[in-house]
Amino acid sequence: MDECPRCGWPDSDIYEVLSRHLTSEGVVTYTRCACGEVQVRVQPFTPGRVVAASCGEPRADPAAPGS
Ligand SMILES: [Zn+2]
Repeated sequence: MDECPRCGWPDSDIYEVLSRHLTSEGVVTYTRCACGEVQVRVQPFTPGRVVAASCGEPRADPAAPGS
């Protein structure tokens, strides 16, 4: 479904967000269309991108300058 069957509002353009809930399935978002129709969307969890990683023990930083 790419657009609202009632008014033709595009699904990709959220008119109003009613509420969001975290579930085991992902993020469930209740939205309301311009025509008043309430829609339920599920955004599945994805692994995401690794932005930082470390291996077990914290590594000792080199001596800070001036100490
Ligand atoms: Zn609509």
